[in-house]
Amino acid sequence: MALIVQKYGGTSVGSVERIQNVARRIAKFKAQGDDVVVVVSAMSGETNRLVALADAVSGNNPNPREMDVVLATGEQVTIGLLAMALNSIGVPAKSYTGWQVSVKTNSAHTKARIDTIDDTAIHKDLKEGKVVIVAGFQGIDAEGNITTLGRGGSDTSAVALAAALKADECQIYTDVDGVYTTDPRVVPEARRLDKITFEEMLELASLGSKVLQIRSVEFAGKYRVRLRVLSSLEEDGGGGTLITFEEDEQMERVVVSGIAFDKNQARINVRGVPDKPGIAYQILGAVADANIEVDMIIQNVGAEGTTDFSFTVPRVDYKNALEILNQVKEHIGATEVSGDDTVVKVSIVGLGMRSHVGVASTMFRTLAEEGINIQMISTSEIKVSVLIAEKYTELATRVLHSAFGLDKV
Ligand code: ADP
Ligand code: ASP
Ligand code: MG
Repeated sequence: MALIVQKYGGTSVGSVERIQNVARRIAKFKAQGDDVVVVVSAMSGETNRLVALADAVSGNNPNPREMDVVLATGEQVTIGLLAMALNSIGVPAKSYTGWQVSVKTNSAHTKARIDTIDDTAIHKDLKEGKVVIVAGFQGIDAEGNITTLGRGGSDTSAVALAAALKADECQIYTDVDGVYTTDPRVVPEARRLDKITFEEMLELASLGSKVLQIRSVEFAGKYRVRLRVLSSLEEDGGGGTLITFEEDEQMERVVVSGIAFDKNQARINVRGVPDKPGIAYQILGAVADANIEVDMIIQNVGAEGTTDFSFTVPRVDYKNALEILNQVKEHIGATEVSGDDTVVKVSIVGLGMRSHVGVASTMFRTLAEEGINIQMISTSEIKVSVLIAEKYTELATRVLHSAFGLDKV
């Protein structure tokens, strides 16, 4: 007998049949004697629909507090429906919204972080033999406002619950049967990994693989939650992928384990700025003051007293960042501010990079052979990222996947 937290994503609860299917899977675990706590997302497409409604009535500028009031409704529907589906096959179940549990968060609307989870009611229900169903993606702040955790946030709700309940395992059921060497929708040759190290999963998630929200991986690391990604569409979950905290020789030997891409990128160039101390601060300080996150940064070696500066920002913040820099252009003494929001960051990730040389050069050669121009580069111990034109996303991912032998067992 185990305590298991299961999370079902939008596609997995996207129709009446799928919800009934989820109910049957949960019933099987119950019949086996396990205690089950379930976290669900909104039905697929629902959160996008709510975002579009909010944008439409607010001229694309929704009040963040009210945005969360609207966004949190999607998950309230699925928890209730799943509880009904379970009841109708004879499994006692009870649903909770985030604030009913309660899942306490900070007040950063639309991207709140979980602080604490009260597990009193959950334990009581489990003792009474009930399946407990909790709405993902949502919580409540200290003032009683509804909050949401950012897109993909149900993953984080599930892992945080698993940590709070000290569950034996957290199972993330989705529409693919595990973590692949890259997005299987982009590269059909992608292979499922039986296990992946926590560090690699953390990098892949932060570099754009949306199979797990980055925060959920961080939570799993912090509280050592046993985390597994599985398919809700296959009988046995399709094998799945275990996120492991142990490394073995095999893992060290594989140079590149996965490839991620992130289209939420835009590049900004500031040209002809005086090459003197404080210039990076003047440029990036102005951007940071507007709460815009900067990712890749390049400052060229100066020539004749001036230099060029390039960096990337989230695509949603592109226009705003351009505006800000155009305002401070004179003040910084720049000759030109320009940019491009049709770029993508493609990254290779692997623990084996620590002990192998020539990984980056293989990446650059492979892209060069396809005539793909690299605009920016950044590296860390276990990853190399390049910024390229968005139109090459599929091509670049595919050729890198094969160059690093990821299509071969
Ligand atoms: P859910 O609605 O269940 O949360 P998501 O759409 O958020 O599902 O995440 C699953 C999707 O992540 C897959 O359908 C797949 O297209 C995408 N994905 C991106 N990178 C990977 C990867 N490396 N392995 C598996 N899936 C990936
Ligand atoms: N429904 C939310 C979203 O679409 C949360 C989630 O699915 O994890 O982002
Ligand atoms: Mg998701």
